[in-house]
Amino acid sequence: MEKTVKSGWPRLVELAATKKAWIMSSLFLSALASLASFVPYVAIYFIIREVLAAYPHYARLDVAAVMAYGWLALAGIAGNIILYFLALACSHMAAFGTLYELKVGFATHLAKVPLGFHMLAGSGKLRKVMDENIEKVEGFIAHQLPDIVAALVAPLVMAAILLTLDWRLGLAALLAVALSYFVLERAYGSAGKREMMREYQSKLEDMNNATVEYIRGISVVKAFRQTVYSFRRLHRTIRAYTDMVIPYTLSWENYMSAFIVIVNNVYLFVLPVGICIGMYTDEHAAFAGKFIFYLVFTPAVASVMMKVLYVMSNGMQIMDGVAVMDGYLARAPLPQPAQPKEAASWDICFNEVVFTYDEASEVTALNGVSFLARQNEVTAIVGPSGGGKSTIAHLIPRFFDVKSGGISLGGVDIREMATGYLMEKVSFVFQDVFLFKQSVRENIRMGSPAATDEEVVAAARAAQCHEFIDKLPAGYDTVIGAKGVHLSGGEKQRLAIARAIVKDAPVVVLDEATSFADPENEHLIQKAFAILMKNKTVVMIAHRLGSVRGADKIIVVENGRVAEEGTHDALLGRRGRYREMWEIYMQAANWRLAGGGKEGARYV
Ligand code: ADP
Repeated sequence: MEKTVKSGWPRLVELAATKKAWIMSSLFLSALASLASFVPYVAIYFIIREVLAAYPHYARLDVAAVMAYGWLALAGIAGNIILYFLALACSHMAAFGTLYELKVGFATHLAKVPLGFHMLAGSGKLRKVMDENIEKVEGFIAHQLPDIVAALVAPLVMAAILLTLDWRLGLAALLAVALSYFVLERAYGSAGKREMMREYQSKLEDMNNATVEYIRGISVVKAFRQTVYSFRRLHRTIRAYTDMVIPYTLSWENYMSAFIVIVNNVYLFVLPVGICIGMYTDEHAAFAGKFIFYLVFTPAVASVMMKVLYVMSNGMQIMDGVAVMDGYLARAPLPQPAQPKEAASWDICFNEVVFTYDEASEVTALNGVSFLARQNEVTAIVGPSGGGKSTIAHLIPRFFDVKSGGISLGGVDIREMATGYLMEKVSFVFQDVFLFKQSVRENIRMGSPAATDEEVVAAARAAQCHEFIDKLPAGYDTVIGAKGVHLSGGEKQRLAIARAIVKDAPVVVLDEATSFADPENEHLIQKAFAILMKNKTVVMIAHRLGSVRGADKIIVVENGRVAEEGTHDALLGRRGRYREMWEIYMQAANWRLAGGGKEGARYV
């Protein structure tokens, strides 16, 4: 996003300024409300004066004047309430408008960033930005902004009142105010504190993320009996949060106690000065009036300072929330070609592809990968874990852009194609299947929104789904995720295959499932894959060598490089890495057979 990047308060003001007229009206009204809030105090001062002037002959008290000041105080209170209410009404108008624009802007941006970003970012964090951080901006504009004006205007008016009546008592009270400001500044201003606050937010986010993912994955976790392992991840984030939050909370202890003690005891500053002046003054009545007023006024000082505290602490939290949002907004969208091209054929060609997940990282996931996956052929990618297989698969539908080199489809670099076009031409079936909370039919149709009901059923049959769909409570109309509807991992994957079949894209990228509890499911998935792969350019990540024997080409990827390529027979003849892997695989298979596993060899 090309714009000057602001942060902190200026960025908050920039966000608020999108609805200028409403904001300005709100700020003006809020300033007036703040002024009005002091009227009762001034009225009380005059009442005290009247009372003291009549002392000790109260029959001489000017009741009409006292009543008038009483009404004035009441008018001040009413004025304060009404003006503040109007200020809030205006600020809410501004806030909801801004909230809407921010949410739409954020969501639109997320749709444009590379798909790989979503894979890495984790949905918990994005949900938090959408639900919490942006909502906080709404809170900031609707409530805090008017309060900030009040927090700026009130101390000024307060200082003016304090100094006008009696500058000596005024200075004593202001000394307390200055001290409390000093404490606040120490508490919020230090770089260490800001850093801690940021870390606190980030740990909170991690915990949030892990919780969401844990809850979402409970069914899978149970199916794979990974309870202890997956809980450990959540447990770790909770521990990290706890380790952070305790020192963080304690670090506020002294500042907050000092602040609260000072602002609630302003009279302790005023009293000694008052006693000194009282001892030497001749005008006792006038002095007593002022003195009493200062003592009455000190709670107002406390409430003004509490407002300042509230504004500062909220402001800091919101700023950090906005900074996280801006971090996501700063992610460059996937560059789009000025003149998009289309492919005439469907060969996939990797040309010296270099890729790293993280700019700063030393680890190069792919380091000069070149190969050709021919149209209507199956190209299998095998190799040890961490070698770069999944990375290759993710680069074909342009989840990420390569760092150097290029990937072409039918001779056209995929960066020169419109993203929509590329998405239309490439189907991908990865292991983590996402199903929407919609009917089975709609979930399959997602592959091709124009598909007829018959086409959906045909795809489901081809993907070996029809039988289990038929057994669901409402067949194809069963809503996934509804009560009592439970799909196994294999069934979900077959639905994803049905989606890809109905899409009928010329290029298919698939990640073969690693492990499934039951062989029946495994068999059905292989059958579904076979239909999906017919007459397509297929790039398949294979985790078991057993399923790649029939591939037209096998590519062995190791340490981010192509170690070998060729057909199964050719590679076996070479006595290289593939043969080594094959022998280990066969040993394992034989071992299983020898161990009595009836179908072992087929499903290793
Ligand atoms: P394979 O699929 O063969 O197991 P991958 O393509 O997943 O291998 O990984 C290739 C390399 O890229 C590894 O070194 C791995 O650590 C790294 N890698 C994979 N995913 C990420 C990621 N999300 N962030 C950073 N590094 C990654």
